[in-house]
Amino acid sequence: MIRVALLGATGSIGSAALDLAGAYRDRIRIVSLAARSNDAALTRAADGLGVRRIALVDAEAARRARDRWKNGEVLEGESALTALAEDGEADVVINAVVGSIGLKPTVSALSRGKRVALANKESVVLAGELLTAVAKRSGGMMIPVDSEHSGVFQCLAGRPVSDVRRVTLTASGGPFLRRDPRTTLDSTPEEVLKHPTWSMGERITVDCATLVNKGFEVIEARWLFDLPPDRVDVVIHPQSIVHALVEFVDGSIVAQLSVPDMRLPLLFALSYPERWTSELPRLGVADLATLTFEPPDPDRCPGLALARRALTAGGTAPAVLNAADEEAVRLFLDRKIRFGDLMPLVEEVLTAHRPEGPLTLESILEADRWARGRLHEAAAHMTRG
Ligand code: NAD
Ligand code: MG
Repeated sequence: MIRVALLGATGSIGSAALDLAGAYRDRIRIVSLAARSNDAALTRAADGLGVRRIALVDAEAARRARDRWKNGEVLEGESALTALAEDGEADVVINAVVGSIGLKPTVSALSRGKRVALANKESVVLAGELLTAVAKRSGGMMIPVDSEHSGVFQCLAGRPVSDVRRVTLTASGGPFLRRDPRTTLDSTPEEVLKHPTWSMGERITVDCATLVNKGFEVIEARWLFDLPPDRVDVVIHPQSIVHALVEFVDGSIVAQLSVPDMRLPLLFALSYPERWTSELPRLGVADLATLTFEPPDPDRCPGLALARRALTAGGTAPAVLNAADEEAVRLFLDRKIRFGDLMPLVEEVLTAHRPEGPLTLESILEADRWARGRLHEAAAHMTRG
């Protein structure tokens, strides 16, 4: 029986995790749940699985939950995420919150030597180098939930990185794969949120349309697998069936395939090193007849180039990229900026950034704050001018 803290329980990955916990009651026991502000969904989930500790980052939501819910303890604030992540009651932390707020809980869980089933890719984008050092010191482990990285992890099957010639991550290409980029500048949030193959939270879905998400995944692969960035490739594969391919030094390529369903990488992150029998949708060999692969067109993938630039700059640059993007996506979803303004604004902030001093958790979070402020200045300037 593994005892799990689930952070981000009300989201897309969170509900996949709740689904698995319901299906594997004999193997998975959820001991705590956290979310930002949806107290009704969180207490419902807690009651469904008999969970007695929940956390709501939003204080008002926590107050509502305490007034209404008498079946356990309600923690509040950002510090509650860290408290649940380091609590000795849980062996495994599923980090499925969105955004850089996920970083501190990842650090806390790893430094207690725990397994982190990591959906919150922002943790690695911001602080991949620090996290791998913490994990090494404490014996903690990050197992990727991101489907492509779960694929790489499964293909590697414990082989050292010196055996790897290159890793290829697949990208669906998002909703605008076949559109002339000049025709998408004024696309609405509704159009951008229609992802062709995956059903996900809003931020990552927008990031799929700009390919920033794939850029983050290159950064994620660099740190999770200790790969030089030039050995991490991206290929457009609109069907999202092949998630990753690993070419070994002898020329053999191993790929990981499945239907696009996040419950599978999540299940693997929990069951590893075992595999548990599942009733998840399966792939038929006939489904493989129409798989296609093509190189990314740089004009349609601005986010990929920005992420490579941030990775080369190093230090706090990836944190700046993430924070600027997080804010820009919010402004776009709130209809304050156009879709076509997203990448130019993020690029402006990345270009203005001057990395300073040694890389620490504090310098990363400081760069994150700076980038958010700078993005809003740039956006205000753009809408005024
Ligand atoms: P989502 O928007 O559906 O859910 C986000 C969750 O995080 C919610 O439970 C929300 O309450 C919580 N949250 C948001 N802001 C918070 C805050 N300030 N404090 C505490 N909790 C907060 O997002 P999602 O699609 O489930 O994605 C979660 C993470 O997993 C992201 O990092 C995303 O990049 C990654 N991921 C998602 C998918 C997917 O298929 N959805 C695939 C790969 C990776
Ligand atoms: Mg992914």
